[in-house]
Amino acid sequence: MQELLVSYKASTLAQYLRDLASDDGNQDFPIVLHSAEEKIREYFHPEKTAHDLFDHIIKKTARKDADEEKRKLDALTEGYARLLELRPYNEKLFEIFGLDQRREYLINHQEIHDLAATTKIPHIFARFLLKRLINRNGILIDELTVLARCGIKAGDAGKALIFDELRRLGAHYSGVFCGFRSMWWRLTVETALEEWLGGVVNSFTAQERTAILAKKFGYAFEPAKSAWSNSTNERITHVCSICERATLVAHSVAVHEQLSGPLVERRRICFNCIQEDRHIDRTDMRIDALDKPVEDAVRKGKIKGE
Ligand SMILES: [Zn+2]
Repeated sequence: MQELLVSYKASTLAQYLRDLASDDGNQDFPIVLHSAEEKIREYFHPEKTAHDLFDHIIKKTARKDADEEKRKLDALTEGYARLLELRPYNEKLFEIFGLDQRREYLINHQEIHDLAATTKIPHIFARFLLKRLINRNGILIDELTVLARCGIKAGDAGKALIFDELRRLGAHYSGVFCGFRSMWWRLTVETALEEWLGGVVNSFTAQERTAILAKKFGYAFEPAKSAWSNSTNERITHVCSICERATLVAHSVAVHEQLSGPLVERRRICFNCIQEDRHIDRTDMRIDALDKPVEDAVRKGKIKGE
């Protein structure tokens, strides 16, 4: 067979395919962009919304783990098949989110109910699930954030003890697209953690939290430390959105979020990344104007770390 080279813009083609699927949504399917890093950056330019057309983006330059990407593509396909089945969405919310009636409060957000009542198009519901819940911390949080809240170092071998117990408590997200990324119900995690610690998470340093958890789980967890102060005697709560190391509000700045509201937690960038200018060409992450003076002070060396 002869190969035919044609040139086209991915966003134009994606828009065309989305429009075709928008009549009744019965033929809907996931669209993934596979492109070079520079082109992807253009899509994420703050004034453009073209990246919203894609369910997932794979960078050509970072072809790291083929199995991992295959698993994600399978999860997208399976998620779309379920979204085609589970309609009308407002009658199937428990199935969509993998919950039972007792835990309805976890999805008791007007945004979820409004969207479920007004659309039957899978890619619109998929975009909401992927971009607002699965790929972002908010009512769901990722594994690194769970560990940061526990004050445990990310690579600690004992983390399975924590995740097994949280799973037993129903904290693991098992709804549509759960195979795409392992996520946890923030409220369930925080409630469990407060009970284990005997108080509000942020009132304990990482060192104090791991000491208490060591007694409960019979395992000497290694405490997380802030890369800025190089200390475990810190109230670690977040994970830097660039380097993915544990950090805290006092050692990081907030990212300006176009999507805000109760469902999405603001991302943060740690002072180490700011100092090393790793945030400079991240057009997908602009620092919130309120934190600009802090950014300047860190870059000029007026706020010093370790
Ligand atoms: Zn960082």
